[in-house]
Parts: sequence; C-alpha cells; structure tokens
Amino acid sequence: MIRRASLLLPCLFLATACGQSPKTQVIAHRGAWKAQNLPENSIAALKQAIALECYGSEFDVHMTKDSIPVVNHDADFLGMDIEQSTYAELLSPTLSNGEKIPTLEAYLKEGLKQRGTRLILEIKKAPSGTPRTLVLTRKAVEMVQALGGGDQVEYITFDFASGVLASQLSPGSQVAYLTGDKSPSEVKQAGYTSIDYNLNVFKEKPHWIEQAHELGLTVNVWTVNAEGDMVGLIDKGVDFITTNEPEKLQALLESRKSR
Ligand code: MG
Repeated sequence: MIRRASLLLPCLFLATACGQSPKTQVIAHRGAWKAQNLPENSIAALKQAIALECYGSEFDVHMTKDSIPVVNHDADFLGMDIEQSTYAELLSPTLSNGEKIPTLEAYLKEGLKQRGTRLILEIKKAPSGTPRTLVLTRKAVEMVQALGGGDQVEYITFDFASGVLASQLSPGSQVAYLTGDKSPSEVKQAGYTSIDYNLNVFKEKPHWIEQAHELGLTVNVWTVNAEGDMVGLIDKGVDFITTNEPEKLQALLESRKSR
C-alpha cells in the first residue's frame, strides 16, 4: 500500500500541474428533473439525464403488496403506502406530468435502450424490515439480469445486508453502501465496490476518500448541489458526485477542463 501511494503522489502532482481534466463524473439524483420541472423518479427525468449524457441516473425502488418493484422515492406514492397497496391500486394517482408510477421493469427497459448513461438503482429499505428488503434485492437483480442490463446497472443501498446480497448475486457489478456508518475497509470486506456517502460524512472524515481509493473502492458523494461543495470534492478526487443540479456540475467540470 505504501509503495502504491508513493507511486500515486507524483501522478497526482502532474495531473494538477498539467491541468488535466478532473476525473469526477456526474450522477443525476432521481433523474434530471429540477431544471425542467419534471417529477423526480419519472421516466421523463431518466430521459433527460440520458439526454444530458450524465454518467449515471439514480432512482429509488420499492415493492408493492403484490411484489411488483416500482420506482418512487418515499415509502408512499402520493399518499398511498406502497408496501400496503397493490400495483393496480397505485395506478389511480398520477405524477405531475401525467405518468403513472413506473414499474422497475418499464424503467429498466427505457434505460437499457441506450448504453451511454448508467442506471443507478437504489434498493430502498422495506418498512416491514430486512426480510422483505432482501426479497426486493433478489427480484431487482434478477430482473436486471433477465433484461441483459448486468453491465449497465449499478446498485446502491442504505441496507447493509441488501448490498452484500446484491454483490453475491451479481459479481462484477458496482455495489455501493450509502449509510456512512462503516469505514472503507469494513465495506470492502463485505464485498462492496464503492462507498457512496453523504457530503457531511466526508466533511468529518475526509481521509476516507483516500482510504477507499487505496482499497480499490470508488467514492461517490450525495447529494451535492452547492458549487463550493462540488469544487471541494472535485479537488479531492472523488469519482462521482450525485446531484439535483447535473447541468451545474457538468458546466463546472467543463470549465475546469479548459484551465
Ligand atoms: Mg435515492
């Protein structure tokens, strides 16, 4: 490890001195919705993230009472408890652009029409507990594999056991832990490929970025919307920034390329 670090130092110096492009890439948080006033986690927001050529478009997955994985951030969809509702029952309310709640299958089929933007699939914790979260994890990975999306989909989760299972079911896939309560080495040992922690975690523990990289983990940071925070993280060499402002981050990265 010491030898590797000593080799990296001159490279980092040269990268800065020669003004090379920052390595940080952009992940649109719940799709690219804000600038166009689209609903979060809608197919329209996914399409906009793809149109912007983001590295990735993040989205959240829950499971209905009749075991259909659906895309939505909260455990309720416009006031209806997802885990206690059938998929058919969830079809009565609509998103502000007229879309119905997307099924994971429909969302993946849309996202896998292209290969430029990766699909960052967040497995949400089931309100009823870990067993149901693990059922959702297995269903989601199997669906991705059945649709041929194994190399295009990455997994993220706050549920440690869910990420461990996803790593086992889909070796070679990128799997990131979100909670921020475990060190890079604990995450690595469990089989994860990435840490994806809140901005405040790295403010308290900035050394975790370097530790993760030394272990071969990638580093993603959520949810970063202020330009000053973006600049600080780009300078620290994080691999990905997840943001509600993908256009702003893209412009910032572009401006730093030409320095
Ligand atoms: Mg999410």
